[in-house]
Parts: sequence; structure tokens; C-alpha cells
Amino acid sequence: MSAEWKRNRLLAAIEPRVRADFLSRVQPISLARDAILLRPGEEIREVIFPSDGLVGLISATPAGDTVQTGMIGADGAVGVFEACGSRRSTAFAGVQVPGAGFRLSADDYRRLFTASPGLQTAVHKFVEVLLAEARQFVACNALHSVEARFCRSVLEAADRTGVGTSIPLKQETLAEMLGVQRTTVTAVVSQLQAKGAIRTWRGGFDVLDRGALERNACSCRENLLSAQAEIYGSDEEVCES
Ligand SMILES: [Zn+2]
Repeated sequence: MSAEWKRNRLLAAIEPRVRADFLSRVQPISLARDAILLRPGEEIREVIFPSDGLVGLISATPAGDTVQTGMIGADGAVGVFEACGSRRSTAFAGVQVPGAGFRLSADDYRRLFTASPGLQTAVHKFVEVLLAEARQFVACNALHSVEARFCRSVLEAADRTGVGTSIPLKQETLAEMLGVQRTTVTAVVSQLQAKGAIRTWRGGFDVLDRGALERNACSCRENLLSAQAEIYGSDEEVCES
């Protein structure tokens, strides 16, 4: 198997002594755009570790309204905490930016987690980042304008996936992420396009002026970046194992 698995932060933390067992059990997968990896109430049968692309955690109301509460890229995995907890999903997990990754059965993941202190620490940090993100998203959704949230979301997606300036995010997906109507996103896109900040194409857009997006993004972006730097920059081993 190629060393693509090392691009995932959690898998890269597995000690060499456990690695051979892991490599014999993990399977490469592609993450197709719009694929639903988990639905609320669904049993966790496998854990999915992206090596690139972006998976959004989406909460939905019975009426079908949606909003994003977290995002998972190569820094984390889908189902990673539920597999060791309730073993049921509480949100939708959908592919927003296509990519690739690796799947491991939930049973194999639980064995791997028990055997690898490095993975345990990495998972704890990822959960901490995801929780900080969810808290920030709650504040952001209540307090900041759609344009500011749009700019923050696009910058985060670009940073988390490493896609550069060409962002394969559909306007429907951004509406789902932001919890607004598609027409609202279209209006924001038109404003940013008129300012020369972005240029749309079918299924995505190019960032022409990243500085303009940075200036228009809400302060949540800076808060999240500093939280991530603090969590990932802390001592590697924090618990006795
Ligand atoms: Zn905000």
C-alpha cells in the first residue's frame, strides 16, 4: 500500500510496532462529492480517515433545514469517537470536497485505539478541535453576517484540503453549510465576484483575491486558527497510558 495514509494526522500518529497490523486491515477508498458517509441514528460500522478532501458534519431539523457543525479533513476521521462510545451517529457526514481516504472496520479501529497511545492522544486532540469548532460555529451562526461566514467557510475549506485557489465547493453545499437558502449564497457570490474576490465555475469557484476574503471573513476564523495551533502545539503525551 502506498504511504498516502501518512497524510492523515490520526493514522500518522500510530506507532511503528502497531503499524503492520493496521496496514493489513485498512482499505483505500475514494470520497465522491455529495456521498453521505453517515446519517443520524446509523450504526457505526467503520471509521473513515480522509487523506484529502473535506467531510462536513451537518445537523438537520425535521423540516429539512440544515447547518454545518464541524468539518473533517486529513486532520481527523469520521465515526472516530462514536465507534468507542454510543456506536451511533447523531449527525449527517457528507463529502463536500471530493478526495480519498481509508476505511477501517469499527471493531478493528477499537483494537487499534486500545493498542496505540499515539493514536489515543491524536484522537483526543482532534475531538478537542472539533468541539472548539462546534462552539465557535454556534456563536458564528447567531452573530455574524452570511457574507462574513461565507468567506470564513471558504478559507477554512481551502486550508483544510490544500486545494489552493480553485475551490470545488458547490453553492448548494455552501447553503447547506451556512444554514441559508441557495438564493442567499448566490447573492453573496455575486457581491464577491463584483469585487473581484472570486470567479465562479460550474461546481466551484476560483479565489482571485485571497486578501479580500481574509478581510471580509468574520473573527471566528482567527479564533479557530489560534485554538487549533494551541491544541496541536501542546505536548504530545498528556495522559498516562
Ligand atoms: Zn463568525
